[in-house]
Amino acid sequence: MSLAPWQQQRLDTALAAWRAGRLGHAQLLCGPEQLGKRAVADSLAARLLCDAPKDEPPCGRCRGCALREAGTHPDFRIITFEENANTGKLRTELVIDQVRALSGSMQMTAQRGGAQVVLIDPADALNTSAANALLKTLEEPADNRFLLLVSAAPQRLPATIRSRCQRIEFSVPEREVALGWLASQGHPAPRASEALDAAQGHPGLADAWLRAGHLALRETTLKEWAGVARGIASPLGIAQLWMAEPALAGLRLRFVADAAVALARGIAGAPAVAGLTPPADVDKLAAWFDQLNRLRLQLSAPLKHELALAGLLAEWRGLMATTETRR
Ligand SMILES: [Zn+2]
Repeated sequence: MSLAPWQQQRLDTALAAWRAGRLGHAQLLCGPEQLGKRAVADSLAARLLCDAPKDEPPCGRCRGCALREAGTHPDFRIITFEENANTGKLRTELVIDQVRALSGSMQMTAQRGGAQVVLIDPADALNTSAANALLKTLEEPADNRFLLLVSAAPQRLPATIRSRCQRIEFSVPEREVALGWLASQGHPAPRASEALDAAQGHPGLADAWLRAGHLALRETTLKEWAGVARGIASPLGIAQLWMAEPALAGLRLRFVADAAVALARGIAGAPAVAGLTPPADVDKLAAWFDQLNRLRLQLSAPLKHELALAGLLAEWRGLMATTETRR
């Protein structure tokens, strides 16, 4: 799989440091979701574990590459969510046993005589005791041993861990780069551009939304939201409709929240504003946006979201009513 330009750039920087003997033993790959942090970590691990000369890309043919691809490389560990043996469910945190198993094997020298690599994804899911156990490994750097921590929320990691890592920071690339990459993924230009606007420049999100057909969902959602403001649609009816598909509820609220921000900023001609005029009281709109975001964060918890959302939509109508009658 080929890397996107912004991913390749970060990989090249890390590899240049490695070839110069300057790659720190702990790397924190951080930045927004869906920008390819894990893909870069995987590619970096592949190169570190390959037997080919350092200045070549991973060969894909040597014993190191074969073992890694088979998932049986003795010097490569991936720590990620595992099934809880008691409940049969996937854990939502990384636990101490996973890190303990690691520190045991890491104290031995590499079985194949090359690099030892541990990839932790998502590193911010380490619970407190697991993070403390990892800290011990971090405090004892060993030659040719690398820890690759992947995180979209590095602020959740203890400062003691963060301070011991070199950072590989990911950020949303420039628009031209993002559009070029979306084209390479087979998305026609006008749609790609529209999706990129909707995703506020984030190419990974734009690509995911295009593949899932979410632009149409966004359009419908914003029409319904505008319908509430104009008194055409009922707050409760729309709340029920949006909450009826739990998998999409968060996305719908995200579209609305982004549109509320665009509306507050009064971005002229932006499709996100759904033909609405900014309300007279932008401060109230900002407060409404905050409440909507709070509701979004609660979606995973079992609350009476329909009523909460219906209440917010009724408030939204009240907020816009003054504006619409003024016109
Ligand atoms: Zn190889």
